Amino acid sequence: LANRKYKPEGTIIEVGSIPIGGNNLTIIAGPCAVESKERLFKTAEVVKQMGAQILRGGAYKPRTSPYSFQGLEEEGLKILAQAREEFDLPIVTEATSPENADIVAQYADIIQIGTRNMQNFELLKKVGKLGKPVLLKRGMSATIEDWLNAAEYILSFGNFQIILCERGIRTIERLTRNTLDLTAIPLIKDLSHLPVIVDPSHGTGLREKVIPMARAAVACGADGITVEVHHEPDKALSDGPQSLYPDQFRKLMNDLEIISVLT
Ligand code: PEP
Ligand code: MN
Repeated sequence: LANRKYKPEGTIIEVGSIPIGGNNLTIIAGPCAVESKERLFKTAEVVKQMGAQILRGGAYKPRTSPYSFQGLEEEGLKILAQAREEFDLPIVTEATSPENADIVAQYADIIQIGTRNMQNFELLKKVGKLGKPVLLKRGMSATIEDWLNAAEYILSFGNFQIILCERGIRTIERLTRNTLDLTAIPLIKDLSHLPVIVDPSHGTGLREKVIPMARAAVACGADGITVEVHHEPDKALSDGPQSLYPDQFRKLMNDLEIISVLT
């Protein structure tokens, strides 16, 4: 069902009034995690003003260390919902288990499946049944075939609202957090009708490399990007080193506008 032959014209997903796919370039921005109402609102205000169309922020955080900030959970979801009202931005946030998928679906406009859960088949079946748009991130060690099979799980339950997200894979390289596989973008465009976006933040782990890779993502045909932005990255509770400063995000938005006209 993920195969392009089922929908040669390509899938466009409508999130409120925001289309993802087709000839649209969709910008998702926000902090790695919801840290407090005050902080989320500050970042949301900045990204909205600079042209982001969707707000991101994790409430359930799948952290590598159990001692790192784990997210505000339902409290975080409530803050996201308040930000949606205040700034008129749809929200995307992660579900980390079949158990929290229901509550995430109550608040989110798009349910994110993170890299660590790309092959959590019970979670995939669950979001297949929930019928809400899903942002399916590529597993850090997943082939493109594995990734499309993960999408197939969701599709097989009748949920066709899937946005694929390349976020970097594990390679021998250690100077970056992950290796962003941009070849995946034109490959997916051939193989599947699903929209595909790029996450240059987790894809590099390095703030200064986010802008060039986001530009490259749009130039090679991505339907959008999801990028971590924080109003005070140096004080972020997670992923500060890869979060853009507001001024960098402004510059990125300008650059992408120019590139999208050319592509
Ligand atoms: C995220 O987007 O907040 C995240 C945890 O990403 P990933 O699953 O790609 O590491
Ligand atoms: Mn993050």
